[in-house]
Amino acid sequence: MKSIVCKFGGTSLADSKAFEQVKKIIKSNNLRKFVVVSAPGKIDENSAKVTDLLIQSYEKSKNNLYFGLHFYQIKKRFYDIINSLNIDIDLDKDFEELYSKIEEHNDYDYVISRGEQICAKIMAKFLDYDFIDAKDIIIFDKDGKVDINESKREFLSKTNINRKYVIPGFYGSQFGKIKTFTRGGSDITGAIIACLSQSDLYENFTDVDGVFDIDPKKNSNAKLIKEMTYSQMKALYEAGAQVLHGDSLEFLKQNNIVLNLRNTFNYSNSGTLIIPD
Ligand code: ASP
Repeated sequence: MKSIVCKFGGTSLADSKAFEQVKKIIKSNNLRKFVVVSAPGKIDENSAKVTDLLIQSYEKSKNNLYFGLHFYQIKKRFYDIINSLNIDIDLDKDFEELYSKIEEHNDYDYVISRGEQICAKIMAKFLDYDFIDAKDIIIFDKDGKVDINESKREFLSKTNINRKYVIPGFYGSQFGKIKTFTRGGSDITGAIIACLSQSDLYENFTDVDGVFDIDPKKNSNAKLIKEMTYSQMKALYEAGAQVLHGDSLEFLKQNNIVLNLRNTFNYSNSGTLIIPD
């Protein structure tokens, strides 16, 4: 096997403890060369996802309302992680720029993508991996579709097979301007990176063990499905199951990439494998 792409969702990045768990997972397999991160999610029921805080800041600014409190909360979420893990990183410029972009409120996608971007910079430092900005390697065409050929060219010119990378999820660029996917879009980034890097395995880590035969939140007898095909997964998605962003599936299926849905916080469980039909 050449390389593995791992994508971590928001709860897997919510605080310093989660960051440590992610590091443990990454470092336990040398082939985990591409790490895609979401923005920090909820720590508990009373906290907010960083992406939601960014959206609220933008809306407030657009309506001429005070957004300082939301901005402070966003900054605090990141600094709590940096300070507890003793990560040596200077994000002053990033936050200054974010503040002015919220104030100007004319680039929504830029603002809401910063949760992923800043998170990836911190994770790259923490793992001692290189940071690559998704805007430089995920390129949208004029119709808003990912241009895989152009993205591949950029990806190959910016990566080296001997290095390991952290990439922010959820966005790319169109004519040089940040463009986001729909919510939950970091799953798509992971799938695209798996195609671009010709990895044969895409591990998607969340806070659930994988796909269950029935909703485990509603029924304690729910059983984890160990293996299924892409067609079965697609049918589940169309029936409303929210395990993975549906737009990821085509990229993976076309490139014969095996997808493994796993739980960051229950790493001994091997999760659900989704294999080409
Ligand atoms: N942070 C974005 C969201 O909350 C994207 C993602 O997590 O995949 O939707």
